[in-house]
Amino acid sequence: MNEQNIYIVRVGEVALKGMNKPYFEKTLVTRIRKNLSSIEGTTVSRHEGLIFVRTDKNIPADTIIRQVSRVFGVASISPAVECESDLDKIGETAVAFMLKQIEERGIKTFKVEAKRADKNFPVKSPDIARIIGAKVLIGCKVLKVDVHDPNCRLYVDLRDDRTYIFDEKIQGFGGLPLGTNGKGMVLLSGGIDSPVAAWMMAKRGMIIEAVHFHSYPYTSPRAQQKVEELAAIVAGYTGPMKIHIINLLPIQEQIVQNCPEEETTILVRRFMMRIAEKVAEKNRCMMLVTGEDLGQVASQTAEALVVTDACVTMPVMRPLIAMDKVDIMDMAKEIGTYDKSIEPYEDCCTVFLPKHPTTKPRLERIEESEAKLDVDALVDAAVRSEEIVRIDA
Ligand code: ATP
Ligand code: MG
Repeated sequence: MNEQNIYIVRVGEVALKGMNKPYFEKTLVTRIRKNLSSIEGTTVSRHEGLIFVRTDKNIPADTIIRQVSRVFGVASISPAVECESDLDKIGETAVAFMLKQIEERGIKTFKVEAKRADKNFPVKSPDIARIIGAKVLIGCKVLKVDVHDPNCRLYVDLRDDRTYIFDEKIQGFGGLPLGTNGKGMVLLSGGIDSPVAAWMMAKRGMIIEAVHFHSYPYTSPRAQQKVEELAAIVAGYTGPMKIHIINLLPIQEQIVQNCPEEETTILVRRFMMRIAEKVAEKNRCMMLVTGEDLGQVASQTAEALVVTDACVTMPVMRPLIAMDKVDIMDMAKEIGTYDKSIEPYEDCCTVFLPKHPTTKPRLERIEESEAKLDVDALVDAAVRSEEIVRIDA
């Protein structure tokens, strides 16, 4: 058997599930299979709470690790070698494994960490570590043991009749497998925040669909393309995504002509929420998701959020609500959306931006302003005008 053709995948929170654990594990296996489907010669199986990925030997480890570690629900992944659970065989495999580490990484010190999941195995973990350590010392003359700060930790994991040997655990994102927590409609702008919000909800198992508003011809087709490119980055984690694209300009014009200037932003936001709710209902989404963050801008003060929420009945998830902007930016960098988000294209919110937006709107006043508009007709017309774009993963 080739040495690099098996990967141990550990589940995160999925392992804590009680009765539903098999369902979560099965969903996770399906997700991993999907993420590997474009790579021929891979198989995914489940055994004793672990997931194993086996691949043809010519497939680079980096490719497998990248595709698997981005699946939500994966806690960590280890490229490994396997052998029979027999101390001589484990010793030989460990020596071969370490010779390769010496050649590739120039390691000089090591420590064996043994684990015996199979408690019927007659030798206890500390003794396994000692015996295998001694065999490695004999087989790899350049190596010394360092129990405090070794260059390489050699993990020996005994399970039933098979033993797995590896030296690294590459972290995944954790979370729960996609599809285990309903479907949400994300209000997706071209900014930094909303792609992160979408990613965070998807990480908890939620399938994501998106609605994007533009103000063409005030906003350019290039701005819309940027949103599609952002969605494609998010889709790398969430799978294919449908975006509902809606021109908000007719509504913005009505607001500007009929309502007080300082209320423009909050009024526009309420229309966005109403339209998003309608689109969400039509597409069987259970929640709205936004990238709002308490106090970040005028429309995200506590008062503004209360007034925004009051026009919809569907729950509105705001996963970034209590985060600092710098931390949101760090997350955007980590998931790979940041560079795209900061490309300078106008957003529909910046069209007709009031000079002094109200930061403490009162619901009665806002409702008075809206009474001058035919809200239902405007919302219906906007929903009817939607264009749908499908983003591949
Ligand atoms: P972001 O970085 O996500 O654009 P922001 O700090 O610019 O956020 P706002 O422009 O006030 O904040 O928008 C708040 C939220 O409203 C966004 O996170 C997003 O969920 C939604 N939103 C804003 N503009 C749009 C848009 N053009 N289309 C769809 N949703 C939008
Ligand atoms: Mg924005």
